Parts: sequence; C-alpha cells; structure tokens
Amino acid sequence: MTATEALIATADAHSAPTYHPLPVVIATAEGAWMTDVEGRRYLDFLAGYSALNFGHGNRRLLKAAKAQLDRVTLTSRAFHHDRFGAFCAELAELCGMEMVLPMNTGAEAVETAVKTARKWGYRVKGVPAEMAKIVVAGGNFHGRTTTVISFSTDAEARADYGPYTPGFEIVPYGDLTAMRSAVTENTVAVLLEPIQGESGVIVPPAGYLAGVRELTRERNVLFVADEIQSGLGRTGRTFACEHEGVVPDVYVLGKALGGGIVPVSAVVSSAEVLGVFRPGEHGSTFGGNPLACAVALEVIAMLRSGEFQERAARLGERLHGSLATLAGTGRVTAVRGRGLWAGVDVHPAYGTGREVSERLMDRGVLVKDTHGATIRIAPPLVVSEEDLDWGLAEIGRVLGGDGA
Ligand SMILES: *Cc1c(COP(=O)(O)O)cnc(C)c1O
Repeated sequence: MTATEALIATADAHSAPTYHPLPVVIATAEGAWMTDVEGRRYLDFLAGYSALNFGHGNRRLLKAAKAQLDRVTLTSRAFHHDRFGAFCAELAELCGMEMVLPMNTGAEAVETAVKTARKWGYRVKGVPAEMAKIVVAGGNFHGRTTTVISFSTDAEARADYGPYTPGFEIVPYGDLTAMRSAVTENTVAVLLEPIQGESGVIVPPAGYLAGVRELTRERNVLFVADEIQSGLGRTGRTFACEHEGVVPDVYVLGKALGGGIVPVSAVVSSAEVLGVFRPGEHGSTFGGNPLACAVALEVIAMLRSGEFQERAARLGERLHGSLATLAGTGRVTAVRGRGLWAGVDVHPAYGTGREVSERLMDRGVLVKDTHGATIRIAPPLVVSEEDLDWGLAEIGRVLGGDGA
C-alpha cells in the first residue's frame, strides 16, 4: 500500500461518506499549487470552490492572521473587540451598504438572510404572521442546513431529510415571467445566485438580474443575492451582480471572505433591513470573532485595490478564449462562465465529469466535477499567466480532439 492509499483507507474507514474525493492526499500548498504526500505537484483549478480566491498561503493574509493569533482570537459577542467595528464598517463600504451581520459558514449566512427577510417582512412590510414567502430558483445551491435544502431541487441534497421547512416558492432559473407570477403580496424576498455555481456555472440570460431588480423594487420585495461563490472578485468584478449594473438589497457573502484561512460569512444590507433585529433575536458564538475580522479586513483591503478583479477579468479572457476552442470539438458540448470561472460540459461518450477529473489529476491539474457531466474550473485569482496556460493546455490534451 502506498502512503496515499493508506491515508485514504483510514479516512474512508472513519469519516461519514458524504464526499467522494479524488484519490489525492494534499500535504502542503502555496499560491495556485498543491503538493501531495508523495511530493507530486498539482495546479489547483478549484480553489476551494472559490474560498481560495487569493491563493494558498497568501503572505498578506497569513501575516494578518498570525498577528491576530498573538493578540486575541475569540471574545464572543458578549463583549466588544477592537477589530469588529472596522470589519463591519469596511465590509459595508465595499458593498455600498450600511450594516453587516457576521456569521461563519455560507449556509449560516443564507439562513440568516432568510430570517432577516422574514423579520423585515413582518416588521416593515406588514406581511401577516406566518405568511411570508421567499421565491428561489430551481437548480440553486445555498448550503446544506435543513431549511436551505428544503428549497433545493437537487434530489441527492434533499432526499430523506424531511419534514422540510415551508415558505419557499421555486421557479425556473432565468425565467422572469415565472418569477413575476410567483411574487405575491406576502413575498418578502427573492433569493438568487447571480451565477449558479454548483449547478455548473450557469450564467442567466442577459437582462434577467436587471429584470429581477425592477420586479422586486416594484413589488416591495427584497432582492437577496447569494454571492458566496460568485462574489469577491471571481467574475472580474467585486460582485457578479455588477455585470448587469444591479445592486441587490442584500448580499450574502462567504467563502473568499475568510481568505482560505477561517470560515467567515456575512449578510450585508441597509440599516432599514438589518436594523429589524433586536438584541437576543439572532447570534453566533464565533460570528465576527477577532481572528475572522482580522483576516477579512485584509481581504477587504485587497479587494479595495481592484487588482484582483482586474486580474480575474484579464485571465478570464484567456481562460474562455482557450475553452472556446474546445467547445463543439465533440468531447465538449458546452462551455459557460464569467471571469476566471467556467463550467465545461463533457460529452457522455467521452466519460463522466469524474473520469475527466481523474485524467486531469493524473496530468497534475485538479478540478471538480458537478452534476455528472460538468467540470468546474476556478483557479485562484493569483494564478500566473504561464501556469494558467499550462493547465489549459493539459485540459486541451484531455478534452480536445473529436469524439470518444
Ligand atoms: C458554498 C455555497 C454556499 C454554502 O457555503 P458553506 O460555507 O459551504 O456553508 C451557499 N451558497 C453558495 C452560492 C455557495 O456556493
């Protein structure tokens, strides 16, 4: 048995089988590269589902984290700490909003957005008790908690977890007419990913987000944008909503906000919306802790320069230029995406997304399949042009050429 096989056997024997990882065991990582326990190097084309937008072991982020480790790491929200106000003020400013409600994981932030929208619906909009409805899109991924999977359309994510939380209306993603019919006077929010990540990097039709913005404004409904994966530079802008000139009422953030070091998530909105809460009505032991705030403050400072957004846009053109040459070759049936983010559909005759991911792993490129036939490409935004081109050439070797 190799060292890799032994480590995987132990993990398989003692961890609940909720994942089916590629057979690679990572020991160290730096920038866009990871090294396994046997010293093999891999280019990371997944970036922790965009939690690692700034790369592995980012010097600036590590420095901020290490400095904070020596000061104070946790106070709970029972007391103030000296990083909290700055974190909230600067994140709100980055978002063009007023208030922040910090949590830890993405799913918790989505749960928090659901609670926020319902509270706002009852206390501000005047929806009758227990009647609040939230409209969501089919194919969504908003996390794994019981309420969040209650409005998933993914059978795997949902099966045998009932009874489910009521109060959600599911409409097809990208269909503005269906959205318009689903909104009633009891609708408190529309919750959407501006680009659906897990679903396979699905970009909605042009005008969709702007249409949702107009509809929600007309009907006094909150537009909640789950930018956990699409936000913070990935698409070439700070937020994916910006591509349509749209500012939602609520941003839900996570993943890259923690710099790949700690889980940090947040709901960001106006004072009218987040001001609905009163002490004791929501909380989290770890939410907004000093270590999380210190790392996130550095993330915010890095985003403020615009450098990473510009890089994602520029490298994204290279990525999509290269992938476009594969589309229609027989092995690739479709390519989608925006910025440094792409979903590539593989022709079933050539293999499953999993098989393609394994072939790429053998060539030193790590990607992740999603929904059977799609591979998702999302390198850290710090990837060099040369490394990106090398990884794309490997993808070309595996997916270029015609047919099976
Ligand atoms: C990853 C993700 C989540 C859930 O985040 P966790 O930190 O895994 O709970 C929610 N929404 C979107 C769009 C995501 O990509």
